[in-house]
Amino acid sequence: MDGRPALSTLSPDELSPILAELGVPPWRGRQLTNALWHPGVVALHEVLQLPARLRARLDERVRFCTVDEAITTEADSGLTVKLLCRLSGGETVETVAMESPAHGGRRRRATVCVSSQVGCAVGCPFCATGRLGLRRDCTAAEIVDQVRVAGAALHARGLGPVTHVVYMGMGEPLANYDATVASVRTLAAGMGISPRRITVSTSGVVPAIERLAREGLPLTLAISLHAVDDPLRDRLVPLNRAHRLAALVDAGADYARRTGRRLTFEWCLIGGVNDRPEDADGLRLLARRTHAHVNVIPMNRIDGSPWGPPDSATTAAFLQRLQGARTTVRDTRGGTADAGCGQLRAALEERRELRGDGSLGPPRRGAAAGATR
Ligand code: SF4
Repeated sequence: MDGRPALSTLSPDELSPILAELGVPPWRGRQLTNALWHPGVVALHEVLQLPARLRARLDERVRFCTVDEAITTEADSGLTVKLLCRLSGGETVETVAMESPAHGGRRRRATVCVSSQVGCAVGCPFCATGRLGLRRDCTAAEIVDQVRVAGAALHARGLGPVTHVVYMGMGEPLANYDATVASVRTLAAGMGISPRRITVSTSGVVPAIERLAREGLPLTLAISLHAVDDPLRDRLVPLNRAHRLAALVDAGADYARRTGRRLTFEWCLIGGVNDRPEDADGLRLLARRTHAHVNVIPMNRIDGSPWGPPDSATTAAFLQRLQGARTTVRDTRGGTADAGCGQLRAALEERRELRGDGSLGPPRRGAAAGATR
């Protein structure tokens, strides 16, 4: 592991003595921090305002960026960019940038989906990340730097800055609470991304939702619900055995009351599992009672799972029964780029481009033709 402090999460009080020790005048320090948040700059050698010798000395003391863009794939004619980011120690996480051009009266958006952990301990059976187990937490800087690297990928394609961030990649963000909250504060202070444009998605860590409600951060909270009864939710989200559905819904409703932010219920729609009329009816009632928004996500198929999305008629009937609740269907952008949560990493592991220690390597001889992107 790299022991140098991460520049993106160093406070001015922590950075000043380092710069003073290196003999860097304050105006050079300002050049450094301005460059840190520039949308196209993610490597110290790109900070051309600073002399090369100073960059070399700084590089010995601080990490300008804690993630490297290891592999990039594109979908949707380049509007979705999926990155596999390498962390210190060689582990990798997935990050996705999605550009939504201005349309009608709606402004342009660029949303980055970040990972908060390498793997995940929750183990939802419909999720590729859950199969990895938890390898380690991401640091706050690693979360922030995923946004910087994804922003640089958009910038390199001639697109504008990141406007929104969602914590919906690999991991359970509220199981890595301190890093998640610290990264939200840094994204706001450094990149100017208001917490109102940040969504944290949780599988239901009830005590952490209660704590988050008292942080004074107007984040959108998305609860990965997927079931409206405990027996089914125990199967789909094993964390439900520790934090029951009723307590989770109460915590979510209290969060919405305290922050003034509308709650979102995420529903991964799985054919033959949670697509019954009674599931839709229960979800509609719950959403209306809590004034929550419902986001239905037809399941992305993952290798080795018998589950998948329902057919289109069942999906339409499910959505029809939700009428009366505010509902959207999440587009499955990035599906052609292995963009389901944990799917790019899982696909590479399958193809042996990802070694057992999480580092990247060449595909084994005899791996499927065309596997290397
Ligand atoms: S769906 Fe989310 S909480 Fe469940 S295993 Fe995957 S990453 Fe973890």
